[in-house]
Amino acid sequence: MAKAGYEIAVLPGDGIGPEVVDAALSVMAAIAEPLDIALHLTRHQAGAFHYRDTGEAISAATLAAIGAADAILFGAAGWPDIRRPDGTEIAPQIDMREHFGLFAGLRPARLFDGVPRVLARGEVDMLMIRESTEGLFAGRHDPPSNDPDTSSDRMTITRAGCERLFEVAFAQARARKRAGGRGHLTLFDKANVLRSNAFMRRLFDEAAERHPDIETDRMYIDHACLTMVTDPGRFDVVVTENQFGDIASEILAAIAGGLGLSPSADVSLSHAVFQPCHGTAPDIAGKGIANPVATILSGAMLFDWLAERHEDPACATAAASIRAAVAATLANGPRTRDLGGTAGTMRVTEAIIAAAQLEPV
Ligand code: NAD
Repeated sequence: MAKAGYEIAVLPGDGIGPEVVDAALSVMAAIAEPLDIALHLTRHQAGAFHYRDTGEAISAATLAAIGAADAILFGAAGWPDIRRPDGTEIAPQIDMREHFGLFAGLRPARLFDGVPRVLARGEVDMLMIRESTEGLFAGRHDPPSNDPDTSSDRMTITRAGCERLFEVAFAQARARKRAGGRGHLTLFDKANVLRSNAFMRRLFDEAAERHPDIETDRMYIDHACLTMVTDPGRFDVVVTENQFGDIASEILAAIAGGLGLSPSADVSLSHAVFQPCHGTAPDIAGKGIANPVATILSGAMLFDWLAERHEDPACATAAASIRAAVAATLANGPRTRDLGGTAGTMRVTEAIIAAAQLEPV
């Protein structure tokens, strides 16, 4: 049988970005090879140091080139000392989100055995889906207020934005149900106070009627944040507005072991960028001690995306294999320092590859 071949655009970025991306690529290559999946990598420059050298965080030519790939793997970008004239930092991850219209941010989190617990009790195994193109961020390019004593931000919720978001959310809940999960979807909102959110809830109710196989629930964002800490097992898939998702997904990362374990995908119907939730970690960059797991699990999400879009069961096996090898390594060690261990990036990466070869899925 001919080998399935995929083009993966790789943007390592700054700081620990290249370290964790190299780790993820070596795990992905080791797992792809026996499954006859050919990964063709193209490497591209983006980030703070690229901005310092060229005046652009990510060029139009790079955006065009990576847009033609089957998937994009990104490390992290930014360096606190390198700023634009207005004092803000560059953010090519936001440039890609806007350029490709990546409207859904997927952040799965699972508390693995062997990972120090933040919560005294409760299992964590959920997927948060953050709307990423509208909500409270929609007004960020609005002109500033003319009144020096007033400043405001606009929250925008559209029917089109909600309908495509909810279709992704119901599809994800269904996929988790097929894989043996609960297949339950909760909307986090502030529909008791904000008109935009009451509208969002109405659209969610309409979507729920279109998907009667998925159980649904609605919860106000403030109580939802409390419940994530007191009873996280209550949630399976969660969908929410941009700013609420920004905050709630950090709580999720914290209760599931920290940023070093948190993968993510920013998706539209045609493009996807896979990246760890963490930044460039200047305090540990270059020391070889970064936790590579978040990026390795982002690689598993990349294989899931290829599996679904190309109906390729080998890619589904690759994704499951990476998750099983990560779970075994976190349970038995070695672990990096952020998880109380002493191992470096390379040792953990090699252990994950060895675990995958020991017990292929
Ligand atoms: P950060 O996520 O880089 O670091 C926060 C803390 O977590 C640091 O102590 C760091 O050492 C630790 N940490 C992060 N990832 C880790 C890993 N894989 N293993 C072990 N420890 C890890 O956040 P920050 O310090 O606020 O930002 C640093 C730079 O990263 C800034 O320039 C910021 O703009 C940028 N940033 C980029 C992204 C992105 O590219 N998506 C996201 C957040 C921050």
